[in-house]
Amino acid sequence: MKLKSLVINGFKSFADKTEINFQPGMTAIVGPNGSGKSNIIEAIRWVLGEQSAKNLRGGKMPDVIFAGSSERAALNRAEVLITFDNHDHYLNIKSDEVTVARKIYRDGNSDFLINGQQVRLKDIVNLFMDTGLGRESFSIISQGRVEAIFNSKPQERRAIIEEVAGVFKYKKEKQKAELE
Ligand code: ATP
Ligand code: MG
Repeated sequence: MKLKSLVINGFKSFADKTEINFQPGMTAIVGPNGSGKSNIIEAIRWVLGEQSAKNLRGGKMPDVIFAGSSERAALNRAEVLITFDNHDHYLNIKSDEVTVARKIYRDGNSDFLINGQQVRLKDIVNLFMDTGLGRESFSIISQGRVEAIFNSKPQERRAIIEEVAGVFKYKKEKQKAELE
């Protein structure tokens, strides 16, 4: 599985539709302070199912929508689309390309789509769970997170290892089955 492209439209400082096509190899995003580098990472985190506005440096989820500037009015919706090359079917979906989209409106309503089909947030979370890319995964390490891992309790560290090893999903399913 490979990251192919990211489209950001109305999310945080990206008032205009911005498309990034990832080329083979490593991609580095550089720019002055405040130019939106972290916002790109947050767009990825958000489209992959982030549920905490705080993790995106906001108070409530609609805060991710472009809030306006001296020259531009605020927008009413934000949208992010992420596309993966899935020829190896690493993501549990038949198609060779997977596009996940998330939209949010000022009133807090949201849309979630996988390959253009409306889904629930839960379906997106499940799609990426145990792939190393999910909401709780370690493919995105933000500032401060490294210390947090070092300082975590043994049980928390075990959960990290279980997620990396891919057994977290089964534990969650077992817990759910036990409750039912
Ligand atoms: P640094 O190098 O300091 O880490 P950066 O390139 O990571 O900077 P970001 O933190 O991604 O920069 O971008 C911060 C900018 O995004 C700020 O100017 C902030 O005003 C703007 N911003 C954040 N949320 C919104 C929003 N909802 N609407 C408009 N602009 C926003
Ligand atoms: Mg930053």
